[in-house]
Amino acid sequence: MYDLFVIGAGSGGVRSARLAASQGFSVGIAESSRVGGTCVIRGCVPKKLMVYAAEFSQYFSDSKGYGWNIKGVNFDWQQMVAARNNEIDRLEVAYKKNLENSGVEIYENFAKLKGLNAIELDNKKVIEAKHILLATGGKPKKPKFHGVQLTKSSDDIFMMKNLPKKIVIYGAGYIACEFASIFNGLGAEVTLVHRGDNLLRGFDCDISSLVRQGLEDKGVNVVLNTMIESVTKCSKGLSAALSNNQQLVVNEVVCATGRKPNIENLGLEKLGVNLEKDAVLVDEYQRTNISNVYAIGDVTDRLNLTPVAIRDGIAFVNTVFNNKPTIPDHHLVPKAVFTKPEVGTVGLSELEVEKKGIIFVVYKTEFKPMKNQLSGNPQKTLMKMIVEKKSDKILGVHIVGDGAAELIQIAAVAVKMGATKSDFDATCAVHPTAAEELVTLN
Ligand code: NDP
Repeated sequence: MYDLFVIGAGSGGVRSARLAASQGFSVGIAESSRVGGTCVIRGCVPKKLMVYAAEFSQYFSDSKGYGWNIKGVNFDWQQMVAARNNEIDRLEVAYKKNLENSGVEIYENFAKLKGLNAIELDNKKVIEAKHILLATGGKPKKPKFHGVQLTKSSDDIFMMKNLPKKIVIYGAGYIACEFASIFNGLGAEVTLVHRGDNLLRGFDCDISSLVRQGLEDKGVNVVLNTMIESVTKCSKGLSAALSNNQQLVVNEVVCATGRKPNIENLGLEKLGVNLEKDAVLVDEYQRTNISNVYAIGDVTDRLNLTPVAIRDGIAFVNTVFNNKPTIPDHHLVPKAVFTKPEVGTVGLSELEVEKKGIIFVVYKTEFKPMKNQLSGNPQKTLMKMIVEKKSDKILGVHIVGDGAAELIQIAAVAVKMGATKSDFDATCAVHPTAAEELVTLN
């Protein structure tokens, strides 16, 4: 009997398994797809590599303003895909090796709960474990409309054989905005269709507006307050009928309309594991209503981000194996959206602060970064800080522009430590940078 059996070898599952095994506990892990999960195989990592690929078009056009004369530039989709896939293969091997080196036994099978201490694999083998961890992640969900089966999900993007010339992206969350930006950078004609009145709901209003403006400046056609009503095949590819009566003829339609927890066929109902809105329901220590069954990461649908799943896994191991009950800290988690312009954010948005009834001051600057003066790139940078008036404490930092994701990581340390606006003011600027604006806001 294992001390721990983990179902799902994504970021959270792998971290939990390795940590428990490295402390001498016997651990097994099952994965029905590829070791690495969403982040490594079909999410953050391959996406970021595509972000890098897409960035070059801007570099090439910016370079003219600096005296470069580049001719005959072209992009080879197949070459990029091959290089990207090689890197993902390398990472998958590294993940497997790391698990094995920690002493974890890997089962490349679909696994489901069979009993309180039993897991059944798809080859009918039954495995026993004292503790079971559900770390099965999530998967894309699509809305219902006629012809939706002709559309692709974000998972399918990584299998595309060719760069689509024209593409519709449906939705305006992280995935939709990031891929609209990527396909635009790679040279596709992109239309982003969204049912709401601005992009990136839940983010600070200034972020949404500047990202939208940035995408539009780069040529993305943003269609708001509009639904896709149907998608049909036509001689030129696919025809998407929109609720605003527009008809778009494109090569691909991608639905990036959210994700849902991966709970199907896991045997949850049979064992009586409680769910809430299709997510595994856990208490603050990530325990389900079954005393030896825990769940972490996206399958619990709390804060669906890789670093959060990893921290959930560490908290789980501390709680169950180190006799150190730990509640995972989901407070002040910094976030990034890898659009062009890039977003980095931590803490509360202006709307959230308003809703809490806090009296606050907004410090904000929107400027053309030095690099864009010569290049002619119209992209502006935004730095915004929301500060509680009474205490001077920083409640939120929102950055849009080059390096925003890297910058927010550091700003988040200060915010997490409870920094005040005066602390930022007391810090000397690094000149000439865009980041210096963060310590000279007034
Ligand atoms: P999001 O929840 O961020 O966005 C979903 C989008 O689809 C929203 O614009 C939403 O509109 C729209 N939508 C939802 N349902 C429908 C529907 N029935 N019809 C039309 N539109 C619909 O999900 P994503 O799939 O983009 O990302 C999933 C999660 O993955 C994120 O929440 C994030 O946690 C994580 N992620 C993080 C990344 C990062 O850290 N950079 C990158 C990618 C993913 P509305 O706003 O009106 O609800």
